[in-house]
Amino acid sequence: MNTWLTNLGIGRKNPGVFCGEWRGGGPALENVSPVDGRPLASVQTATEADCAEALQRAHAAFDRWRLTPAPVRGETLRRFGIALRERKPDLARLVSVETGKILAEAEGEVQEMIDICDFAVGLSRQLYGLTIASERPKHRLMEQWHPLGVVGVITAFNFPVAVWAWNSALALVCGDAVAWKPSSKTPLCSVAVTRLAQGVCAETGADPALFTLLIGGGKGVGERLAADPKVPLISATGSCEMGLALARQVHGRLGRTILELGGNNAVIVTPSASLDLAVRAIFFGAIGTAGQRCTSTRRVIAHESILHDVERRLRDAYRSLRIGNPLDARTTMGPLIDVNAVETMLQAITRLKSEGGRVLCGGERLTGSEWPGDCYVTPCLAEVPGNLPLVREETFAPVLYVMPYRQFDEAIALNNDVPQGLSSAVFTNDAREAEEFLSVCGSDCGIANVNVGTSGAEIGGAFGGEKSTGGGRESGSDAWKTYMRRQTNTINYSSELPLAQGIRFGVDA
Ligand code: NAD
Repeated sequence: MNTWLTNLGIGRKNPGVFCGEWRGGGPALENVSPVDGRPLASVQTATEADCAEALQRAHAAFDRWRLTPAPVRGETLRRFGIALRERKPDLARLVSVETGKILAEAEGEVQEMIDICDFAVGLSRQLYGLTIASERPKHRLMEQWHPLGVVGVITAFNFPVAVWAWNSALALVCGDAVAWKPSSKTPLCSVAVTRLAQGVCAETGADPALFTLLIGGGKGVGERLAADPKVPLISATGSCEMGLALARQVHGRLGRTILELGGNNAVIVTPSASLDLAVRAIFFGAIGTAGQRCTSTRRVIAHESILHDVERRLRDAYRSLRIGNPLDARTTMGPLIDVNAVETMLQAITRLKSEGGRVLCGGERLTGSEWPGDCYVTPCLAEVPGNLPLVREETFAPVLYVMPYRQFDEAIALNNDVPQGLSSAVFTNDAREAEEFLSVCGSDCGIANVNVGTSGAEIGGAFGGEKSTGGGRESGSDAWKTYMRRQTNTINYSSELPLAQGIRFGVDA
């Protein structure tokens, strides 16, 4: 076993359930790296009995944790941030090997975990309520925020550690416990992170069951969490199909959700734009994580007068790409997550041609000793006349569609004319276009940027999207409020009992 894996507490065989102690009685998942197709390690999945026991312990941990003052809860997050700083190189390496994303991006992902821990420490002293002017004399009207309970966090493969951290850091300072169901494609990252958390709990005295982990082979464990009436909030990240199935289940029992689902993100490039900036942003947006980010740039809507210039520059950028081992510092694009993802991409390109799209470059499987394991492809750049049926769907792979527009209104309409509503951007030096894009009749997405690409959000802002992206918000700003329950209080310190709205009732009538 490699030293860096041992440093993270990963062995050849790993238990996949943590509830204060490690266990896992279900079948083993054999995890294979997309980098070279070789087995990495095996992880034991959770049985129904494991889930029941783990959730019971998480509830017991919550009962105590909610009584711990929030700034003291923040101390566990502060120490966790320090542990992440110390283990950043090893953890980033694991993220890279397990997902195929290049090391620089994997380091960025671990940095996001550190950033949200820092944010959570500050937040632990800022869980403010309000006092509100009461209409009754000698009455105080106020709002306060209380912890919710055990929060279920279901994550996707493409951000195997950061998305958990966005949710968990906030949920934990808010006084909740967390039960994490990671993607079965990236179980080792979740084991490594949970081991790190376990070490921090040993230092601070926090109950380790606050960091419950439940690895499942398919969607079973996620469905188990979704159905459990004692899990008041499920934060789920993944495809729109998953979100729809999960929402039916959780909303069917009137539970709460934070849904962070698929994107179909566009960049509008106007005639006044700096094409240098625009093309660099589009290139990163389309190629980063091999096109497997929820915020990946999938569509470029370019003014017809500059369309061919944009296409030429993008083609040149695509030719400069180095595709290969993501651990090699010279590599700009690693493999897709698995062989199925490659098949899905190739099928989409065949369909694109049948719908009237034209491939400008790329879209082929790479084989040979430089690209072992069958998961490497060349990214595809294609020209389309508009939002073809395929273009309206999210193909989770490096396929970028370029389409023309004439009037700016038309560009905004094209931006909005897809089911998803996550991220969007305009490149322009025209203040009126920029303002129009951000206005009430502009982009309908949760994220709308000016001269900044669609991909690579900071943790300080609330993150999430509209329409079939699910409407959830997590990470910064006031996203913490979703992890708490709001309570409105009226306190009467008079010797009368005046009713609201001046109602006179019974003896007072
Ligand atoms: P996926 O939908 O296949 O799986 C996501 C997670 O949901 C996994 O842990 C999976 O086991 C679980 N799951 C699947 N069906 C379930 C069900 N019925 N009930 C409960 N849990 C269930 O997604 P993926 O392939 O891992 O990730 C790619 C998708 O995630 C893309 O669509 C991408 O856009 C999206 N994504 C969105 C965001 C965001 O913040 N909006 C971030 C990252 C990824």
